[in-house]
Amino acid sequence: MNQQIGPPAAGRLEVELVAITPDPERVIEQAGRTCYLSFDRIEDDSHEGFIQRLIKMGHESPLEHAYATFRIRNCSRAMTHQLVRHRLMAVSQQSQRYVDEDEFAYVVPESMPAEYADDFHQDMRTIQQMYRKWRDRGLRKEDARFVLPNACTSEIVVSANFREWRHIFKLRTSAKAQWEIRDACRVMLSILAEHAPACFADVALNAT
Ligand SMILES: Cc1cc2nc3c(=O)[nH]c(=O)nc-3n(C[C@H](O)[C@H](O)[C@H](O)COP(=O)(O)OP(=O)(O)OC[C@H]3O[C@@H](n4cnc5c(N)ncnc54)[C@H](O)[C@@H]3O)c2cc1C
Repeated sequence: MNQQIGPPAAGRLEVELVAITPDPERVIEQAGRTCYLSFDRIEDDSHEGFIQRLIKMGHESPLEHAYATFRIRNCSRAMTHQLVRHRLMAVSQQSQRYVDEDEFAYVVPESMPAEYADDFHQDMRTIQQMYRKWRDRGLRKEDARFVLPNACTSEIVVSANFREWRHIFKLRTSAKAQWEIRDACRVMLSILAEHAPACFADVALNAT
């Protein structure tokens, strides 16, 4: 086993709920009932059935009144590159222009056979040396980063409304999605399904 002298392998993927609309299902019911002026039907437990009916008929725009923000750490740039394709999501991501990647951590794909793991770590150390070489030769971070791998970890904060989260989760918890974005989206989905079951239980049920 080689001594680990290069960049550290990343810890486990971390997902943190940073913020969520307070009482989100009430907000959605109040907004949605505006369409029918049926405020008199609001009761303590009316939001669940009301939201489920909206979803069933495809009238999902009232779900846009509730938002959730997550911070994701220890994920790869390969994963964030996929996540940021969702255009209705607000994104703030660790910059490789401003943050030095001298000691970059990296994600090891789950499929990496144990017998090749050392070889993979060695490749990461080689890339770290390449990055330092270009920095030492005077390249700015924004240009030295051209040699960095997709495995490089990133930190990202993402915000979206509930309608968009439903869309993202349907696409990204599917068996067709890549494993790392699937893992992150499964965690986010389970958190939102706890806070707003009427909005996310059906998606959670169908997540493969
Ligand atoms: C399994 C999988 C494989 C993929 N493979 C590839 C790949 O090989 N190459 C690649 O480039 N991408 C790939 N993607 C990314 C994919 O093409 C989408 O860019 C990404 O999933 C964002 O989804 P979206 O556009 O539906 O959603 P969002 O950007 O989240 O938008 C939400 C919805 O808003 C509507 N919308 C948003 N913007 C517009 C617009 N400009 N015009 C009309 N409607 C709009 C659409 O209804 C859209 O579904 C893949 C995605 C998945 C899930």
